[in-house]
Amino acid sequence: MKNEITIVGAGIIGMSLALVFSSKNKKVTILERNLKKSLSTNRIYSISTKSKSLFEEINVWGNLKVLNKINKMHLYYRKFSQEKSLCLQSNKREIGYISQSNDLMKALLKEVKCDDNIELIDNSNITNVYDDEDKIFHLEVDNSKLIKTHYIFSCEGANSLIKKQLDSKFIKKNYNAKAYVFNLSHEISNKNIAYQIFLESGPIAFLPIGEKEFSMVVSVNNNKINKNIFEKDNIVNFINKITNKKFGKIKLTSDLISFDLYGFNLENYRYGNIIFVGDSAHSIHPLAGMGLNLGISDIIEISKSFEKTISSFGNLKFFDNYTRKQKIINSHARGQLEAIEKLYALDNSFIEKLINLGMSSINNSEFLKDNIIRYANQNLSIFR
Ligand SMILES: Cc1cc2nc3c(=O)[nH]c(=O)nc-3n(C[C@H](O)[C@H](O)[C@H](O)COP(=O)(O)OP(=O)(O)OC[C@H]3O[C@@H](n4cnc5c(N)ncnc54)[C@H](O)[C@@H]3O)c2cc1C
Repeated sequence: MKNEITIVGAGIIGMSLALVFSSKNKKVTILERNLKKSLSTNRIYSISTKSKSLFEEINVWGNLKVLNKINKMHLYYRKFSQEKSLCLQSNKREIGYISQSNDLMKALLKEVKCDDNIELIDNSNITNVYDDEDKIFHLEVDNSKLIKTHYIFSCEGANSLIKKQLDSKFIKKNYNAKAYVFNLSHEISNKNIAYQIFLESGPIAFLPIGEKEFSMVVSVNNNKINKNIFEKDNIVNFINKITNKKFGKIKLTSDLISFDLYGFNLENYRYGNIIFVGDSAHSIHPLAGMGLNLGISDIIEISKSFEKTISSFGNLKFFDNYTRKQKIINSHARGQLEAIEKLYALDNSFIEKLINLGMSSINNSEFLKDNIIRYANQNLSIFR
């Protein structure tokens, strides 16, 4: 079998990329290990306006259930108190949209299935990559079938097998921290405001998925962890304590999931004819809910290759604008989030004064607030 473009992984990134290629009249094959399992993942995502614009372009936004639209975000330093807060709001733009990963997957799958340029082959586990004498890589599926293809797009997520097989170098940063993810219902309306509090132990994000329901991401440094707090029975007390019962009676409404936090960025986004996209190429701290959004920015840059590049489609360098530019942008984004996380975790009076001063200066400037929101909506890039 000789394909023009093969995408490995039918996650949000793999399917979105396939739809972009189809819009450029390219034929694509997607190989997916286990679609049923991927469809059952149920995460809450905040989606930026830049990502929304791509989903509109590939006809997915209209079919997507948007749980909430965020117009306001309150950031707190150490305590849920007015004096130590920053209120981000702009009358010019939204802060973001909240959606569920399986709704997004379903909306993408619907488009992919009715697209004649895309063939999605489920239950196809990539088990190996081989290169021939011309240094062109081919894929092995389920240890037997060999797929020969001109371009391979690795969209298999953070645990990419292709990346491991190529022994591709990446800059990995272990945050020595854990993230806990769960949902809460509460008594007093959150007024559709997203909250973030920076504790010494790490940042905690409250994403409103309804007027009286939050999706929570709690990051905790391993050295500051009291594991008992994060037992199912104690988590509600912990949130009550840090919020000063601001949201009334709280109830845990989901399982409590935890995972280790680490970030990485590949040294090269292209190896021969293999191109890495999304979590396969980079991963960042969940502090700003940007992981997926950065992957969407990758796809927007890949799409621009068709307008910008000087080499013709088929040339291995055709996507080099993407590989160069996004590697730098994603590396900056990771660095910025790490710096914010580190700064806010420091516990000394000078830093505290500095942070409070910074927050109050931003609070008093509509210009700064609008620019921060715009920057986040551009997926942490100064480029459009
Ligand atoms: C709890 C949590 C909350 C998050 N919240 C946000 C948020 O609010 N905003 C945000 O922007 N990001 C968020 N992220 C990050 C986001 O989930 C990821 O960036 C995104 O899922 C990456 O998508 P992907 O398609 O690159 O990879 P994945 O979603 O991992 O998809 C990879 C696909 O490849 C398939 N695959 C893997 N290996 C093989 C193989 N060998 N052969 C064939 N197929 C294979 C898998 O089955 C899967 O379908 C969050 C992450 C977590 C963990």
